[in-house]
Amino acid sequence: SFDHVVRAPEDPILGVTVAYNKDQSPVKLNLGVGAYRTEEGKPLVLNVVRQAEHSLVNDKARVKEYLPIVGLAEFNKLSAKLIFGSDSSAIQDNRVVTVQCLSGTGSLRVGGEFLAKHYHERTIYIPAPTWGNHPKVFTLAGLSVKTYRYYDPSTRGLDFQGLLEDLNSTPSGAIILFHACAHNPTGVDPTLEQWGQIRQLIRSRGLLPFFDSAYQGFASGSLDADAQSVRMFASDGGECVVAQSYAKNMGLYGERVGALSIVCKTADVAGRVESQVKLVIRPMYSNPPIHGASIVAAILKDRDLYNEWTIELKAMADRIISMRYQLFEALQARGTPGDWSHIIKQIGMFTFTGLNTEQVAFMTKEYHIYMTSDGRISMAGLSSRTVPHLADAIHAAVTK
Ligand code: PMP
Repeated sequence: SFDHVVRAPEDPILGVTVAYNKDQSPVKLNLGVGAYRTEEGKPLVLNVVRQAEHSLVNDKARVKEYLPIVGLAEFNKLSAKLIFGSDSSAIQDNRVVTVQCLSGTGSLRVGGEFLAKHYHERTIYIPAPTWGNHPKVFTLAGLSVKTYRYYDPSTRGLDFQGLLEDLNSTPSGAIILFHACAHNPTGVDPTLEQWGQIRQLIRSRGLLPFFDSAYQGFASGSLDADAQSVRMFASDGGECVVAQSYAKNMGLYGERVGALSIVCKTADVAGRVESQVKLVIRPMYSNPPIHGASIVAAILKDRDLYNEWTIELKAMADRIISMRYQLFEALQARGTPGDWSHIIKQIGMFTFTGLNTEQVAFMTKEYHIYMTSDGRISMAGLSSRTVPHLADAIHAAVTK
């Protein structure tokens, strides 16, 4: 019987929305989950997505047949080009295997399972802290998960020395997870120069970099700038693994569209790797859904839609950056004790406020503001209208 089944806790991130939905207050604010909202607080479907969907629906030649195990070929090709760059030597050499997966999470999981089966070192090092789902995804994929130092709470910045020391003392060949840009939850990224040093260390020790790219274009507003870390590694002739998500940058959250790329040393190896990735996917979900990938492919292959996408993407990134300045200024105006400059220095969707669990609980109880207990707030969920309420709550939490 199932009588012995115990109730599991809510997911620490998605559970925030569950609690938010139960709150009846008119001023309630959900800054938990990382989903973009407009100035009016509404979810956004990009214009280019609407246009692409419109043509897809009106194309009577389109059918609903199964995709191959690896997904839509055109989507895979265009996704590799987007992350590695149109001049990528790895792509030109046919050394890159790209398979369509279920958004970023599914790409991480398929990549993790492939590595657990076929790579000689089964330990993956993830940054401390990292996105809460990473340890679970990789453990269930069959890898052993350890952490490396990343964030220094005292500077609210990168613990670069700690990172280098920890990566230096991993077993040779270990897998190292990096956030390609806009590190979640800290908003702290290495500089390009630091990435260069990290790359040297990774290559000299024969470690395997695994990039999680959930925010390309969403961090800086530039697709190329946000891919620079990945491109540095993909262009040096060595191996790397990349999980891409179109949830944020195309606003395709619920369509579950993403890609896993494995950069190999030769085209011959890449062919064999692809054959084994298919054996991971087939018994898991057989093949991926067609709709989201068709939307992405339609946008990436059409020059006008692509250009329009970059404009819409930049508008989202710019609105988030503007929220950072507005929140920072609102705290300054209130004379809130402490240095809040990290709010404008951090990169991407989230601000790692430095508020503790108790302060977060206070803000939820007294101000109906919902966020993860580590003090992470989604800047994308804020608007000019809600900034004052958040600033009041933060001020009250740190001065109470
Ligand atoms: N990695 C990171 C760092 C993320 O922040 C997210 C989304 N919150 C994901 C992966 C995966 O998201 P999705 O599966 O929706 O693409």
